[in-house]
Amino acid sequence: MAAIDSLPPLREVIARHGLRARKALGQNFLLDLNLTARIARQAGDLSQCDVLEVGPGPGGLTRGLLAEGARRVLAVEKDPRCIPALEEIAAACPGRLTVVQGDALEIDPMEWLRPPVRVVANLPYNVGTELLVRWLRPPRWPPFWESLTLMFQREVAERIVARPGGKAYGRLAILAQWRCDARIVMQLPPGAFTPPPKVASAVVHLTALPAPRFPADGQILSRVVAAAFNQRRKMLRSSLKTLAPDIEDRLRAAGIRPTDRAEAVSLERFCALARELERNG
Ligand code: SAM
Repeated sequence: MAAIDSLPPLREVIARHGLRARKALGQNFLLDLNLTARIARQAGDLSQCDVLEVGPGPGGLTRGLLAEGARRVLAVEKDPRCIPALEEIAAACPGRLTVVQGDALEIDPMEWLRPPVRVVANLPYNVGTELLVRWLRPPRWPPFWESLTLMFQREVAERIVARPGGKAYGRLAILAQWRCDARIVMQLPPGAFTPPPKVASAVVHLTALPAPRFPADGQILSRVVAAAFNQRRKMLRSSLKTLAPDIEDRLRAAGIRPTDRAEAVSLERFCALARELERNG
C-alpha cells in the first residue's frame, strides 16, 4: 500500500486540479483518509472482490478502497475535471483501478467488472436514490452485486432501514428489506465533508439475500405498496380499493385489518397480500 500512502494530500490534489465543488453534481468531498478507510472497511473483506465506486470525485474513498485491499476498483465519475486526479491514483496502483468518465445512470458496470462485486459509494445526493432503486430492482435476482455500502443523507438512510410504525417506513424500506439485510453502519456530521452539506449523512450497508425474504411477485408487490403509501393517511380498504373489488376480503385473507393504514403493515403481510392478489387474479 506504500504507493497509495505516498500520494499527495487531497487538499493539494484539489487545488492543483482546480476541483472547486459543484453543487449541481452533488459534490461534497471527503478529505480525511482515516474516515474514507473506515467507510471502506464497512464493506468487509474486499481482497477477493471487484468494487464499483460511483462518483469518486478527487478519490478519497477510492484511495480508502485500494488501501483496504480491494482486488480491483471501477470508478465511474461524471465530472471530467476529476479524471486526471483519479488517473494519478491508478498510476500508483497498476492494474487495480479503472477510471471511467460518464454518467453512472447510463453505464453498464459489468462491462468492466468480474464477480463477486461489491458497490461502495459516497453518492451524489441528486442521483443516489435513483441508483439505489435500480440496484434493488434488477431484471434478475440475485443481482450483479453482493453488497451495497452507500452514503446517503441521514433521512434517506433512515427510510431504507425503517420498521413499521413510523413516518420513515414506506416504499424504500419495503423495496430494500424484501431482498436485503439493511442497516446503518456509520453516522457523519455535515462537517465531515468539504463543503459541508446542510444535513447529516449516514452509511447504509445492504447485503443481498439469495432469495426474497417472503415470496411475492415483484411487480404486484410494488403496485400494492405504491398504492398503500401514496395515500398513507387513508385506511387500506380505501387506498387499495382500485386493486380488487373485494379488497376487504383479500386484506383479511392476508392477515391485515382493512381499517389499518400502510404504516402499520409489516413487509411479511404486504407480501401475503401480493400473493392473495396474484392468486385471485
Ligand atoms: N466520493 C467522493 C468523496 O467521497 O469525496 C465524492 C463524493 S460527491 C458526494 C459525489 C460525486 O459524484 C461527485 O464527484 C460528482 O461529480 C459525482 N457524480 C454526480 N453525478 C454523477 C453521475 N450521474 N454519475 C457518476 N458520478 C456522478
